[in-house]
Amino acid sequence: MLVSEVHQPRDLSELLSLMRRLPGATLYAGGTELLREQASRYVTLPPELVSIASLLELRQVSLTERFVELGACLTLTEVLELKESALPELLALALRGVATAPIRNLATIGGNLATRSRFMDVWPALACLDALVELRDGSGARWINLNRLADDDGRPAFPAGVLLSRIRIPLERWDAVALRKVGRCGYPSRDSAVFALAARAEKGILAEFRLAFAGERALRLRDVESRILGRRLPLSAKERSAFAVEYREAATVLSPELALRFGTLVDGALDLLSR
Ligand SMILES: Cc1cc2nc3c(=O)[nH]c(=O)nc-3n(C[C@H](O)[C@H](O)[C@H](O)COP(=O)(O)OP(=O)(O)OC[C@H]3O[C@@H](n4cnc5c(N)ncnc54)[C@H](O)[C@@H]3O)c2cc1C
Repeated sequence: MLVSEVHQPRDLSELLSLMRRLPGATLYAGGTELLREQASRYVTLPPELVSIASLLELRQVSLTERFVELGACLTLTEVLELKESALPELLALALRGVATAPIRNLATIGGNLATRSRFMDVWPALACLDALVELRDGSGARWINLNRLADDDGRPAFPAGVLLSRIRIPLERWDAVALRKVGRCGYPSRDSAVFALAARAEKGILAEFRLAFAGERALRLRDVESRILGRRLPLSAKERSAFAVEYREAATVLSPELALRFGTLVDGALDLLSR
């Protein structure tokens, strides 16, 4: 019989010293992803497991005028229960689309962002909002833009042996946000992905335009975004079709089906800017 050793650190510093001592140990937050697809009577767990869900330091919420900071072990339900001013609409839309209420009661926001097999459903919304994540390991703590957790090919790049401790989400005014889950409904699959959009205009000029799409691969075309920004609205038909072509070209890394869906959603977003 396989035996797993389960560690239950009492606080963050004990967790970090455990992680230093056991670099191969698996962090267990809500466990919904780790235990998914284990339908037999006895579950199989990795040999070294560190339970982090109840650590107080990872369950805090801090709110300022400019951002909200979420502990990684807040459950999706707890985040959804935050007051409206602390919960960006795009994030709320993404959270409501994850699994079912009983799963959301266990699943954590950190676990959603730290899953390495693919990008889960909260990732594109927070990538679109340019959220920062605090990563901790033996060498200390650092904040990075969530988008950096995708490698140059757009594949998940969450580093091994690292704790995601907090997520800092800028609180900004958006004139338009949209989120669509495409492909098979339910658990994220090979042919599913999430599209997230946020845009803001100031005095008739496009001040912000961000578009993220992620499933097995993530797409966020900052160079195209920076060329759209600063344009007077509505976009001309010529501008609109030129940007649509750029997004379509970038989508060739996706499966044909996802590329088609992505193209349609981009057309919808550019249509919004052309009205
Ligand atoms: C029936 C079912 C339906 C689902 N549907 C969806 C869905 O529609 N959309 C969706 O996005 N997901 C879905 N999921 C997957 C899962 O519930 C979520 O992605 C969830 O947010 C994962 O969080 P967790 O706390 O349970 O992660 P865990 O299972 O605890 O961990 C997942 C991974 O992240 C690592 N990890 C966890 N926390 C941290 C941390 N703070 N720092 C570093 N690494 C960490 C773990 O080591 C593990 O590798 C579904 C799962 C099930 C069982």
